[in-house]
Amino acid sequence: MTERAPLGLLGGTFDPIHHAHLRLAEEAAEALGLCRVRLIPAGQPPHRGAPTSSPEHRLAMVRLASAGNPRLEVDAAEVASPRASYTVLTLERLRVELGPARPLVLILGADAFAGLASWHRWREVFALAHVAVANRPGHAPHERRWPAAIDPELDAECSPRLGRDAAELAAAPSGRILPFDMTPLAISATRIRELLGAGLSARYLLPDSVLDYIGKHSLYH
Ligand code: ATP
Repeated sequence: MTERAPLGLLGGTFDPIHHAHLRLAEEAAEALGLCRVRLIPAGQPPHRGAPTSSPEHRLAMVRLASAGNPRLEVDAAEVASPRASYTVLTLERLRVELGPARPLVLILGADAFAGLASWHRWREVFALAHVAVANRPGHAPHERRWPAAIDPELDAECSPRLGRDAAELAAAPSGRILPFDMTPLAISATRIRELLGAGLSARYLLPDSVLDYIGKHSLYH
């Protein structure tokens, strides 16, 4: 695949990164024809309380989890930045880095997509990237290929952009929205933090290398 192929972008708090994040990236790459997926840990996520682990620890865990998978790359810029991690600013930075023609695909779980209309300068996101939305257990499942519990403002902006085929993502740099199905995995970082906080096992919910790192640095205990 050439460097002109769509590049996937998966942002997250990754507190910690887990197997559903990794399957989301892997399945998005295959379903949507992405050459690679760039994992972008948030430094200071604006939409939630402070993460439990530091940006440096979350970045280190993302690096461990993605090691050995040539499809995945890690972007440390948000972690390194002192300002809030707004997606629109990250997309503007990537446009400068990658040029105006490269198709970019922002990958979101259904829960993240449902909150998109509360994001900083959210309408500008569609001028900068495509958006691909994956199902997530317990969060607004696709109904007629569209998340059911969608906000009316988001619906008005998104309906005309709804795509049907992954080929549409390669045909333009930005502007389409494509729902896609991934293997449903009811894994969340919240649940992993709860398990570890209660002294219970989180094994097989996240990579062993990440679990070892958590143990070594006494995170979430
Ligand atoms: P937390 O439980 O701390 O809120 P999380 O598990 O939701 O964390 P995030 O880092 O907030 O993980 O998520 C990053 C991205 O991955 C978001 O777009 C989110 O929707 C998506 N995602 C996370 N877990 C899943 C899952 N199990 N299925 C589908 N998408 C997911």
